[in-house]
Amino acid sequence: MRPVSLVIGVPKETAPGERRVAMVPRAFAALQKSGAELLVEPGAGAASGYPDAEYVEKGARLAAGRDELFAASDVLLFVRTPGTWQQAPAAGAPQPDPDLARLRPGQVLIGFADPLSLPDTSRELAARGVSAFAMEMMPRITRAQGMDALSSMATLAGYKAVLLAADALPRLFPMLMTAAGTVTPARVLVIGAGVAGLFAAATARRLGAVVSAYDVRPAAREQVESVGAKFVSLPLETSGSEDRGGYAREMDADFYRRQRELMAGAVKEHDVVITTAAVPGKRAPVLVTRDMVAGMAPGSVIVDVAAERGGNCELTRPGETVVEHQVVILGPLNLAATVPYHASQLYARNVASFLGHLLRDVKPAAAPLPLDTADEITRETLITHGGEVVHERVRQLLGLSPSPSPAAAAATPGDGQPPPDPPRPSPTSAAPAPSTA
Ligand code: NAD
Repeated sequence: MRPVSLVIGVPKETAPGERRVAMVPRAFAALQKSGAELLVEPGAGAASGYPDAEYVEKGARLAAGRDELFAASDVLLFVRTPGTWQQAPAAGAPQPDPDLARLRPGQVLIGFADPLSLPDTSRELAARGVSAFAMEMMPRITRAQGMDALSSMATLAGYKAVLLAADALPRLFPMLMTAAGTVTPARVLVIGAGVAGLFAAATARRLGAVVSAYDVRPAAREQVESVGAKFVSLPLETSGSEDRGGYAREMDADFYRRQRELMAGAVKEHDVVITTAAVPGKRAPVLVTRDMVAGMAPGSVIVDVAAERGGNCELTRPGETVVEHQVVILGPLNLAATVPYHASQLYARNVASFLGHLLRDVKPAAAPLPLDTADEITRETLITHGGEVVHERVRQLLGLSPSPSPAAAAATPGDGQPPPDPPRPSPTSAAPAPSTA
């Protein structure tokens, strides 16, 4: 008997301002070869530049509407998982998501779910009986490099932040020598030299600015220098600032106070400050105070890429542009969605690669999707399964006891599982490449 083929559904995103789509026609080709069927809500890719006809041309079927799409799909691909974006602080008062009622037990959901900041929504997804994967929980290991959607989106955010800064600045970025005189280049300071910060530094360099960058992780120096920027050294004890996964750890209030004091001079000397400093699952640290803003030259610009996490600047208002002390402070949200064509292309490639991983032993692709929680990638991204929140960190945040499920058992260190891959090297090329490149 022919196995039932796996139906993968792509809904239209509903969050305000969300112009991305979770699957683009070309990225689906490999999955289609493996026997999966693609079902697309009409208009799903319209806002990102992928018309329905292109999906159909690549072999997808258009659903009659959203209800049919949810009912017929074994796997649903989202940029923003249902019930999550409405709970984000930037969305205002939380509202119920009508899509939650469309979900059915056993369905697999893949998308950004922000479970470390919004653990309650994981509880809600668990109650619906779905198996939800959160793309932001992807382990940063070599095997998962092509699935690293956070890096893909951060790359675009860093690029776009520089364009916003250049647009708002009353000065040029490059140095110009003209018959009318010489124009000095803009001085750009990037605070937080992770994926977004490094790409911002590289982009600002390409536009001709003189760029400096700072990060609390000592390893960032080499990466900053490799994109042609100068590393700002602060006399701070930073030895415990990086966790095993390469992320920054949350430091104590005293550390941040000292950091702000030391950073004030550097901020004052720059025309543009781009802040991207983040600690996973925590509010972004405040690194630029009101007084530091007041010390900047009139017309200076701050682009706070961390606005979604509360902001690195004390004066940032997420989603707004404010002018204080004649300094323009931009708090953009969801910058990747402002480059929706390529953001969707990269995200879709990350998702397709993740699906390919989940389906690696199923030929042809068929429902139900196997969930091998002994595998690090599957285990670390799976948030809910079988009516429970199964991710240990999310369970802890919810005050739940360690999970009795197989996912938790597999997650227990020293249980005979193979050791996790070592962290892969950080991007050090002159232009940090998107992880999907
Ligand atoms: P992120 O978005 O969580 O944070 C952005 C940056 O802010 C980080 O570099 C962090 O160190 C920095 N930061 C936090 N607190 C700070 C403070 N007080 N002052 C200054 N900077 C501060 O991080 P990210 O951009 O997603 O990546 C973090 C790390 O992971 C980087 O080392 C990056 O190169 C690495 N990475 C590794 C892989 C991999 O596969 N191994 C993939 C992508 C990124």
